[in-house]
Amino acid sequence: MSMIQVQEALDKILCQIQFKGVERVPLGQALGRVLTEDVVSRINNPPLDNSAMDGYAVIAEDIQSATPENPVKLEMVEEIAAGYTAKGTLKPGQTMRIMTGAPIPPGADAVLMQEDTQKDGGNAILCLDKADVAENIRRAGEDVKIGEGVIKKGTTLSPAHIGMLAVIGRSQIAVSQRPTVSILSTGDEILELDETPQGPQIFNSNGHMLAAQIKSAGGIPVYLGIAKDTEKDLMEKFEWALKADIVVSSGGVSVGDYDLVKSSLQKMGQDMLFWKVAMKPGKPLAFGRIGKTPIFGLPGNPVSSFVSFEQFVRPSLRKVLGCSDLSHKTVQAKLTRTINKKPGRLHFLSSIVSWTDGEYTVTPAGEQGSGILKSAANANGLLIFPLEAEEIKQGQEVTVQLLE
Ligand code: AMP
Ligand code: MG
Repeated sequence: MSMIQVQEALDKILCQIQFKGVERVPLGQALGRVLTEDVVSRINNPPLDNSAMDGYAVIAEDIQSATPENPVKLEMVEEIAAGYTAKGTLKPGQTMRIMTGAPIPPGADAVLMQEDTQKDGGNAILCLDKADVAENIRRAGEDVKIGEGVIKKGTTLSPAHIGMLAVIGRSQIAVSQRPTVSILSTGDEILELDETPQGPQIFNSNGHMLAAQIKSAGGIPVYLGIAKDTEKDLMEKFEWALKADIVVSSGGVSVGDYDLVKSSLQKMGQDMLFWKVAMKPGKPLAFGRIGKTPIFGLPGNPVSSFVSFEQFVRPSLRKVLGCSDLSHKTVQAKLTRTINKKPGRLHFLSSIVSWTDGEYTVTPAGEQGSGILKSAANANGLLIFPLEAEEIKQGQEVTVQLLE
């Protein structure tokens, strides 16, 4: 088994991963989905010049001299509510009462806010201040113009994106199809959560964690339970697993006597690759395809499984989904304490990033053993401790991958 680097493994994997396909969904189901079209507006928003204030539409020149001491009197000729248009045209010496969002009447070139006016009998107002041309007017198309690109293909839709799509009247949207991902846990010692441990058994944490990771990455997890450490059971369950678009297993890829995932997969098909990846946690990794279906054999230790998913499976799911960005968001952060390791493997440290006094700082979240999931559970980032580095001093900057 050859030892390869993280980036090389990822590159080899990604070139075997394909986009799944497109579907149209109602806007109400589009949150978190990945856009497969460049969205272009067919309308102007706002559609017309309109008032940004409750107040009075005026001709700015009419009230240039207005002050509280020397107010200018205007005749009120009409009232315009939001959703309605003026019947007439504003003439010198006149004003129209106007509400926020109502279209600016022809003839007017400014809106004086209500707070700068006084009623003067039933049909007149006193302007207590001047207005500049265009004051309190929102221009047609100032948010979006006809033909303007609004959201780019490959974007994962956020609540504000949903709002923006509604602004331009899109009730249906083209997004990528979500892949089904089957999850197979392996090991004679692994129990379902509702079983009672008798002796040296542990619960299937990986299966549930992987399901959550798949879901958060936009995939549809298919939980297939636990395979025994026999080639027969593994092959049977992998056969089922192959009905999904992608297969993820955990455990059984190391060098122990009962690590039979590799041999089982090899017996089932072609193209399986097994690597020692120069990373910690998560050295052993199996990847390949049986037929068209990509299979990820992740290591069994919970932190290794978690980190390996983040490095290899999540970017792959992003590619299947057509995301424009396959990698995690990263930040540069200042270490709050010195860290050490041996050279030769890239370490991912479960860490806590925070924004303190105008900069990011990062602190490893407790013990980093591959079985200590508690630290990952407390973390919001994975600190990257480079391959050949042996020490990074307190105060130095490091790259941290932000976790979802
Ligand atoms: P393996 O690679 O199968 O030797 O597993 C490595 C370690 O991870 C062992 O201590 C296993 O008990 C543990 N492990 C394997 N699968 C799981 C799982 N699904 N949930 C929790 N721990 C696991
Ligand atoms: Mg095992």
